[in-house]
Amino acid sequence: MTPVYVTQPCMPPLGEFIPYLETIWRNKWLSNAGPVHEQLEAELAQYLGVEHIALVANGMIALTIALQALEIAGEVITTPFSFVATSNAILAGGLKPVFADVDPITCNLDPDAVEAAITPHTVAILPVHCFGRPCDTVRLAAIAERHGIPILYDAAHAFAVRKSGVSVLREGTMSTLSFHATKVFSTCEGGAIVCRDKALKDRVTSLRNFGFIDQERTGMIGINGKMSEVHAAFGLLQLRHLSAALDRRGAIDDRYRRGLAGIPGLAIVPTGDDVLANHGYFPILVEDAYPLDRDGLHRVLTAKGIGARRYFYPLIVDMPAYRGLPAAAVSVPNARRIADRILCLPIFPDLTDDIVDGIVGTLRELVGDRKAA
Ligand SMILES: *Cc1c(COP(=O)(O)O)cnc(C)c1O
Repeated sequence: MTPVYVTQPCMPPLGEFIPYLETIWRNKWLSNAGPVHEQLEAELAQYLGVEHIALVANGMIALTIALQALEIAGEVITTPFSFVATSNAILAGGLKPVFADVDPITCNLDPDAVEAAITPHTVAILPVHCFGRPCDTVRLAAIAERHGIPILYDAAHAFAVRKSGVSVLREGTMSTLSFHATKVFSTCEGGAIVCRDKALKDRVTSLRNFGFIDQERTGMIGINGKMSEVHAAFGLLQLRHLSAALDRRGAIDDRYRRGLAGIPGLAIVPTGDDVLANHGYFPILVEDAYPLDRDGLHRVLTAKGIGARRYFYPLIVDMPAYRGLPAAAVSVPNARRIADRILCLPIFPDLTDDIVDGIVGTLRELVGDRKAA
């Protein structure tokens, strides 16, 4: 089988990018909320169904700025089953991460565990819509309201995801997005912050530009989190191809599901009821009934050139940079169980049916079932 990576960015024809570059050259405006940047902000607001969105340089900076905009100090409850940027941003902001366990099925923060982790020092909740599956936003909102604290959702996986027809980005006080090359929608590097109201968006817009409130005065101590015109242009181009890309991802997801059905010991992480998914990931759990454990299967696939990823593994609390922290000394059995069994299979718009069938065939052959997938 031709080697295949776990993901690959959507690369529209190069010729289609040239007119965008010509516009930027004509404008002679490269950064600081130029016309292309403003157009992408407006188009994303419309596409995602949100009112207040601010573009930034990447997803980690989105988290960092969003936390700063909340003007909080104390403990932030979050998940150990995420990309390390989630809790890095908490620590970078001088806040204390408190890791709560996840739900064994959804991989998302368990509201009961969140409730149990609340202390008088809790100042926010930072859940992740893991693999694009929406969190239990209703129960999390009830907890946040009861304790009078904001929720900041790390929605890096949840671009364009809807629950009961409504964008999940409308949940909580703020949501952050990542437009990294590996994500469903990309600007090479990039990200955004979705805010509940205009005042919050104004604060975020100032913070991403050193804290400037006008040409000469800074209100807060901000950072440089701006997105350039070239990155924004790549985003506009991607947006033109997004609906086709999402359709293709959906078709691949479907093909995997049909192919993997009935293989003992391979469980597909469910997308949730009434969810319009973006199929950014295809996560499976390798359970005991499968002849190989997750690491064994990962080794076999890697040797065959199939780029599956152990994502997320290890847990954030098990990473060397975290292990020594008091916050890492927590009992999170569900997260640990998932991290030891999770495997993300390749999914991206250019992945062919033949390769999907080849991967399914390999997973089937390993249980000795050589029927055509
Ligand atoms: C990708 C990702 C980020 C970080 O985004 P960058 O744009 O790479 O900085 C944060 N959180 C999660 C859950 C992610 O998957």
